[in-house]
Amino acid sequence: MSKIIIANFKMNGTRHFINKWFSKFLEETNTLNKIIVALPTPYLASFSDCNISIAAQNVSSFDSGSFTSQVSAEMLKDCDIDYCIIGHSESRNLLNETNEDIFEKYNQLSKNLIKPIICVGEPMNVREGNQTSSFITDQLNFFSSKEEDVIIAYEPIWAIGSGLIPAVSDINEVCELIKSLVTNAKILYGGSVNEKNAFHLMNNSNIDGLLVGGASLDPKEFANIAQL
Ligand code: PEP
Repeated sequence: MSKIIIANFKMNGTRHFINKWFSKFLEETNTLNKIIVALPTPYLASFSDCNISIAAQNVSSFDSGSFTSQVSAEMLKDCDIDYCIIGHSESRNLLNETNEDIFEKYNQLSKNLIKPIICVGEPMNVREGNQTSSFITDQLNFFSSKEEDVIIAYEPIWAIGSGLIPAVSDINEVCELIKSLVTNAKILYGGSVNEKNAFHLMNNSNIDGLLVGGASLDPKEFANIAQL
């Protein structure tokens, strides 16, 4: 079964870098997996008509108005963007986003027919305190009555950019929990994925795909991951 593989460029790249990245990635890849690339906002419109799906990295929880610096779901749709990450731990942290804000963003995306990629995941102190299940349940509380085709990325905060990966049993436990909370969700794993550890993650039947940060900036490495 094909998987969903997402590259999250975060705040990296230039127009030149992204052009070169796409050429190299397309040259290196031959896969039936669904590939999505989350680009920084200024580049979304210029790359929306390339052969690969493009995602935004965040969206406003409001329709329009006096929200300097923010981008609405309607604007993303107007630029032909089909996917959007919401609830990434870096945005939650930097912008003080609450679980309720993330749900408002989800509503904005749904209204504009943009597919949400909802990130959840616990900090280390929560895992060490055996509170992971209740933490993730709280993050998905607003979504629990939904039966929609959403993508949920499980990204333990302590695994992002750290080189650490949770034990398989811990990943499976969280995947089971997410499945029990949100029917029909596609569940991705994210956090320190690279071409060396991707194989066992891709072969885990609880995981429908991967969200790759740092390692996605190298088009050859991302291609190797994408076509596993
Ligand atoms: C991310 O930030 O979504 C991520 C998964 O980062 P990394 O792969 O670098 O840990």
